Amino acid sequence: MNILACARWARLLPAILALAIGTISIRAADNAIALKAKRIFDGKSKSLVPNGVVIVQGDRIVDVGSNLAVPGDAQVIDLGDATLAPGFMDAHTHLTLDYSGDYNVRRLKEVDLNVSEQAIIATVHARATVEAGFTTVRDLGSRFVGSREFVDVALRNSINKGVVMGPRMLVATKGIGASGGHFDPTSGFRDFLFGREPDYTDGIIDSPDDARKAVRFEVKNGADVIKAAVSGGVLSLADEVDTPQLTPAEMAALVDESHRLRKKVAVHCHGDEVAREAIEAGVDSIEHGSFMKPETLTRMKNKGVFLTPTLMATEWIMSKLENYPPALQAKAKAAAAARSDMFRNAVKLGVKISFGTDAAVFPHGQNAREFKVMVDLGMQPIEALRSATANDAELLGIAQKTGTLEKGKLADIIAMPGDPITDITATERVFFVMKEGKIIRNGPPTVHAAAKETDPANVAAPVD
Ligand SMILES: [Zn+2]
Repeated sequence: MNILACARWARLLPAILALAIGTISIRAADNAIALKAKRIFDGKSKSLVPNGVVIVQGDRIVDVGSNLAVPGDAQVIDLGDATLAPGFMDAHTHLTLDYSGDYNVRRLKEVDLNVSEQAIIATVHARATVEAGFTTVRDLGSRFVGSREFVDVALRNSINKGVVMGPRMLVATKGIGASGGHFDPTSGFRDFLFGREPDYTDGIIDSPDDARKAVRFEVKNGADVIKAAVSGGVLSLADEVDTPQLTPAEMAALVDESHRLRKKVAVHCHGDEVAREAIEAGVDSIEHGSFMKPETLTRMKNKGVFLTPTLMATEWIMSKLENYPPALQAKAKAAAAARSDMFRNAVKLGVKISFGTDAAVFPHGQNAREFKVMVDLGMQPIEALRSATANDAELLGIAQKTGTLEKGKLADIIAMPGDPITDITATERVFFVMKEGKIIRNGPPTVHAAAKETDPANVAAPVD
């Protein structure tokens, strides 16, 4: 070959390479996967369908139904006597935190460990969560006392880039609350231990103007959703569980600013009186809601406000009361005594219920235990499954792309053994997880959620 021909080839080389790479990626995307199981829950129907088949191509579902014909070149994965379902969603997690151990040991650790180490631990929480079948979470608050790091934003971005394995995350950054309230990271510590009173950069506000400033600051730093504590909470030392903590004017400013920036608002709220004020202010979901009365629930229903009941948080605290100081035990008992009736009433009245657990209060990866508590308190199993799929997708504002098994949606698909309608605890034994067409798990998990109970890294500031 003469020099001229060589040069011509050299010029053509990038184009040839691009063509070759393009062909390879097109071929990879063309390889369909057919998932089969004895039954299927599509996220919206009122019952399961037998002999479910889902055809996946690339990151999308291309067909779904009963006894579908499988394309000849598709890779068939037959999951047997199992139920296929959309990837579960949890509308209330704290993946960057872990409050599940002894309360006082955890408080000491939260000021001992550096934030980088806590961020690395969070990657294990993310993996445990997605391997348990939760392919999407709304992560409602990440805060490290004395630090201005945005670990939840970093975790979300790392998952999106494929650096870390975990669920799709919508993050709230720092929860917004009042001075001395449930979200004040310095509450319960000696005054000025951390050198200054927290301000809007820590999510702490004391006026409607502060509320707008905090929302703008959080959106600027990567928040997908705004979280605020409008009442006291269980795991905080300087407040009562149901006292109002934000004023109606502060809530109105917070909701207005969030909605102007097209962000939804989730509020931590146990008290009944302040719940009514929050509903009036236009919040999108009420988290916990322990003391809400039927009249308040009716207002929620009429305004289409979601209830995220986080029943597992109370279950866990009540089963480990010895881990908490007496003042917190008393608050937990009061909330637990009220929330079962509240939840039964919400189901009866037809309030929209989103599935959310408060994972971090209990070990990450055990989120599915919430299903059984919901069913034990009167919810139909199919409704509990819908709450963790279609309902959450609606609340999170992502129903266009996920939440149900439908043609064109992202291939977030899980499988659990047997029939979850006859045994809702099947949800706790998810063994197959696909997220956006990629198989994350088909068999035993790599992270063992049970082992987390003894994890020494109980690090966090109080949120709930
Ligand atoms: Zn929480």
